[in-house]
Amino acid sequence: MALLVQKFGGTAVGDAERIRAVADHVARTVRRGNQVVMVVSAMGKETDDLLRLAKDVSSTHPGREMDMLITAGERKSTALMCMALHDLGIPADSFTGSQAGFLTDTTHTNAKILAVRPDRIQEAVDDGRVAVVGGSQGVSTDNDVTFLGRGGSDTTAVALAHALGADACELYTDVTGVFTTDPRVVSTARKMPTVSFDELLEMTATGCPKPAMRSVEYARTHGVRLHVRSAFTWQEGTWVTEEEPEMEQAIVSAVTHDMSEAKMTLAGLPDHPGVAARVFRSLSDLGVNVDMIVQNVSAQGVTDISFTVPHEDLAKTQEAASALVAELGASEVLVDTAIARVSVVGAGMRSNPGVAATMFEVLATEEINIAMISTSAIRVSCVVEQVRVEDAVRALHDAFGLSVV
Ligand code: ASP
Ligand code: MG
Repeated sequence: MALLVQKFGGTAVGDAERIRAVADHVARTVRRGNQVVMVVSAMGKETDDLLRLAKDVSSTHPGREMDMLITAGERKSTALMCMALHDLGIPADSFTGSQAGFLTDTTHTNAKILAVRPDRIQEAVDDGRVAVVGGSQGVSTDNDVTFLGRGGSDTTAVALAHALGADACELYTDVTGVFTTDPRVVSTARKMPTVSFDELLEMTATGCPKPAMRSVEYARTHGVRLHVRSAFTWQEGTWVTEEEPEMEQAIVSAVTHDMSEAKMTLAGLPDHPGVAARVFRSLSDLGVNVDMIVQNVSAQGVTDISFTVPHEDLAKTQEAASALVAELGASEVLVDTAIARVSVVGAGMRSNPGVAATMFEVLATEEINIAMISTSAIRVSCVVEQVRVEDAVRALHDAFGLSVV
């Protein structure tokens, strides 16, 4: 008998028929002798709808009220799911994040988990019942309802799997697994049977949309076995596990791309100690998550610093950058919004030189210019012109032998 945490995303529970299909799947899992704890997202696009409604109603969005509003989506799914399970003769109880023992900080709309105390979930399971938990929610140290942020249901599922000591955490979604690249861009993309935590973390950090990066981090830290799979075909998906040292690693396992960032350059900054610290501390104080920082060589005591920043933070970053340019006596702020990042990821890179060289050659052959480069032990990323990024993805996917043969 295995204890499984099964998480179902918004499209998986998008309407009444989907809810019944998922309940049927869970019922089968239970009848095969497993214990199941479910985590459900809000139905379909409900979270987006609630956010839009808040915007239509008011221009002030106090975090406490936003969280009360948004978590209603997941709460609805839990109750409906339990009703569908009861129909099939499966005893089931719904739980809010608070009831499920998720204690969070007070950062409304993006709360962090402080502790998971799933006593009531454990009791339900011990009694032979299915526990159905609302994803992405908890209760704060101030006793208010909190939302864990967009995509937070994946994190709920992983955290619950860890706290319960579950045998696996299954993330059921609308794709059949993790792919070697975005199948919408490259039709020959392949589903990966396995991927390591480190690789998937790099992939989600550089554009792979699912699962949510935060849940992968949580799973890696706590060693939670993840299975990313489809709630539509029910076929075996992608297992996310520790690297197996005895296995030969693919040099490049995946190609990702990301169009969510812009490039900003502060030109003519004075080149002396403390300038970079001043710039990035003030951006970090604004909550801006910068990436790919490059500083140029200094000429005549001045230098340029470029970095990438999410489009959604661009306006406030630009404002801060203009203030910094004035304060530090720099020359100007340059912004390029028509960029994208393409990355190759693979654990085998650690022991194989030449991946960066090959990547640059492939881009050169395609006459794609590289604007910025960054690397980690298992990733090489290039910033390129946005209009060429899909060409870059296709060429790299082929060149590194990832296409179906
Ligand atoms: N429903 C929320 C969202 O779409 C949380 C989740 O499903 O992970 O962001
Ligand atoms: Mg969702």
